[in-house]
Amino acid sequence: MQAFEQQKTSLYRLASILAKHRELDGIVYYDTDQHLPAAAVERRGELCGFLASQRQQVILSNEMKELLDYFSDAEACARLTRAEQGMVQHFARDRRYYDALPLELTAEIAAANAASQAKWKECKYNENFTEFTPYLARTIDLTRQMIDCWGYEGHPLNALLQFSEPGVDVAMLDTIFTQIRDRVVPLVQAIHERGASIDDSFLHERYDIARQRTFCTDLLRRMGFDFNRGLEGDTEHPYTNGVNLLDVRVTNHFYEDNLASAILTELHEGGHGLYEQYADPSLLDTPFGCGMDGGLHEGSSTLWENSIGQSRAFWKANFPLLQKLFPSQLGAVDAEGFYRAINKLNGSLIRIHADEATYNLHVLLRYEMEKELFSGNLQVADLPEVWNQKTEAYLGRRPQSLAEGVLQDVHWAGGMYGYFQSYTLGKAYHAQIMDAMRKQLDVDSLLEQNRLTDLLDWLKEHWYRYGCTTDPKTLLTEITGRPVDASCLCDYLEQKYTDLYQL
Ligand SMILES: [Zn+2]
Repeated sequence: MQAFEQQKTSLYRLASILAKHRELDGIVYYDTDQHLPAAAVERRGELCGFLASQRQQVILSNEMKELLDYFSDAEACARLTRAEQGMVQHFARDRRYYDALPLELTAEIAAANAASQAKWKECKYNENFTEFTPYLARTIDLTRQMIDCWGYEGHPLNALLQFSEPGVDVAMLDTIFTQIRDRVVPLVQAIHERGASIDDSFLHERYDIARQRTFCTDLLRRMGFDFNRGLEGDTEHPYTNGVNLLDVRVTNHFYEDNLASAILTELHEGGHGLYEQYADPSLLDTPFGCGMDGGLHEGSSTLWENSIGQSRAFWKANFPLLQKLFPSQLGAVDAEGFYRAINKLNGSLIRIHADEATYNLHVLLRYEMEKELFSGNLQVADLPEVWNQKTEAYLGRRPQSLAEGVLQDVHWAGGMYGYFQSYTLGKAYHAQIMDAMRKQLDVDSLLEQNRLTDLLDWLKEHWYRYGCTTDPKTLLTEITGRPVDASCLCDYLEQKYTDLYQL
C-alpha cells in the first residue's frame, strides 16, 4: 500500500477509536448524573481516570506520531479532504496538549483542583476567603506551570486559549471586551437612570410542572429536535450531552414558581442539541460528529435562547399556546407584556441569573481579572475587593457577601481558567450569525408564523453540518464573511433595550 493510503487508513482508525472514547465519556457522564448510587462515586472516579489515560495513550501512540509527522508535509496534507485536514489539526493539538505536560504535573493538577473545589464549597458556605486563599493560589500556580510547559506568545492566557478557543487570542478578546465595556456599561447605566420598571410578577405565580413540561417538550420538537436520535431528562443543573449525533440527551430543571426558567433552558439546551444532531452524518465515526466545544457551541444555544426565544416575533406566535395551558395565571397578560417580562433587566449580582445585557459584564470582569492574575499583576488575597470594585463599576451595585461576589462560580476553584470568555464569545458569534441570517431570510416573519425549522434549515446548511472540522475563527468567517467582533452583539443589545426601556 502506498504511504499516503496507509497513513489515511491510520487516520481513520485512530479517529474511530477516539470517537468511541468520546461516546463512552458521554454515556458515563450522563449515567453519573442520573443513576449513580452514592457508594459507587469513588469507583466511578477511577473509571473516568482510566478512560482518560486510555485516550491519552492513543494520542501519544507511535502510530499517531507517524501520521502527524507524515501529514505535517504540506503536499501530503493538501491531498486530504477538508474534514480530514481538520482531524489532523485536531489530533496535533491534542498531542501538543499532552506531550508538553509531565505526567506528575497532570496528576498534581487533578489532585489540587479536586481539593480546591471541595474547599470552595465549604468556604462559600462559611463566607471565608482567607481559608480558601492557599487552595486557589495553588491552582493558579499549577496552571501557570502548565502554561510554561506549553509556551506562549504575547499574554500567558494565549496558551490556554489555543485549546479552549483555537484561533482566538488575548488581542482579539481585548477588542471584543473593550467594545462591550464601552457600549454595554453605559447602556445598563442609562436603564438604571431611566428608572422605568417592567412587571414580571406573573412569571412567579404557581405553574404546574407537568404543563410546563408539555409546553417545553412540544417546543423542542417544533425547533426540529429529532426525538428518534435524542431524549430529554431532568437534572439539577441542566446540560446537553451529545454521545454522538444519533444519541443526544437534553436536560432541564423545572421550578413551580419560575415559568421563564425552564422555557429558556429548553431553548438553550435545545440549541446545543440541534448543533449535535445535525453535524454531517459522515462525521459519525470521527471525534467531530458533534459540534465544536467552547464559544461556538454556546453560540448555538444562546442563538435559540436569546435571539429567537427572547424575541417579540417568537412570542407573538407562542404566547397564545402558553396562555392556553395557563389561563388563570396568564389570562390578563398579552404577548407584548410577556415579551417585556422575560427581557426585564434584573441586574443580578449572580452571573447565572443575569439578564442578557448585564450577563456580558459579569464575563468582562472575570476576563479582566484572569488576565491580571496570570500576568502577575493581581494577588489572590486581593481578589474579593477587586471583584467588588469592578462589580460596582459595571453593574452599579456592590456584592454584600462572598457567595454573591468572588466565590459564586466553581470555575476558578476547579482550576478552570481561560474559559469564561467563551460565554460572551458565544453571544458575539450568534449575534453575528443572526445578522448574516437576516440578510437572507425574513426571520421575524418566519418566527411570527412559528416556522422554526426554516431557521434550523439555514443553520444546518451554513453551520451545523460542519461539526467541528475547522476552528471557530475559520467557520465564523465562512458563515458571516469576517472574524468575530462584538459590534453585532452591542447593536442588538442597544436596539432591544432602547426599545424596551424607551431610552
Ligand atoms: Zn450552554
